[in-house]
Amino acid sequence: MQTVLVSRCLLGEPVRYDGQSKALQHPLLQRWLDEGRLVPICPEMAGGLPCPRPAAEISGGRGQHVLQGRQPVLTQDGTDVSAAFIAGAQAALALCQQHDIGLALLKARSPSCATHQCYDGQFNGTLTDAMGVTAALLHQHGIRVFDETELDKLAQQLSSA
Ligand code: SF4
Repeated sequence: MQTVLVSRCLLGEPVRYDGQSKALQHPLLQRWLDEGRLVPICPEMAGGLPCPRPAAEISGGRGQHVLQGRQPVLTQDGTDVSAAFIAGAQAALALCQQHDIGLALLKARSPSCATHQCYDGQFNGTLTDAMGVTAALLHQHGIRVFDETELDKLAQQLSSA
């Protein structure tokens, strides 16, 4: 049975920077949960960050640039948390490799988990078209990443596997 990596906050776990969750209520998600298909991770906590934690954004918004060492992930007071974000991304990749996972369901607009758009580091709500640090690393390794608006696409992948 094909398994799917999933952002822990989407499963209702209070792991977000503000100590909250972002529970996704959807019959498909519940079905995959019941089937035991979901392998949860919060990359930021796996990388050693606490909960709650200060909000952070990628300078320029591109997770790929963080992996390349070209841009940092910073909190609003300028603390560089890049190392924890990279460690979390590596933990997510290791989990995928351990469980032979080729698909991931990740939370949109997170500096770790975003699959399409990230905040650009100005802390003013501006988005840029790019992936977060974890999504970028998984994508680099051939893992297909989806956000919570793309459950139907993910379901198609699962049914064609
Ligand atoms: Fe959710 Fe990902 Fe942020 Fe963790 S790092 S709280 S899993 S969006």
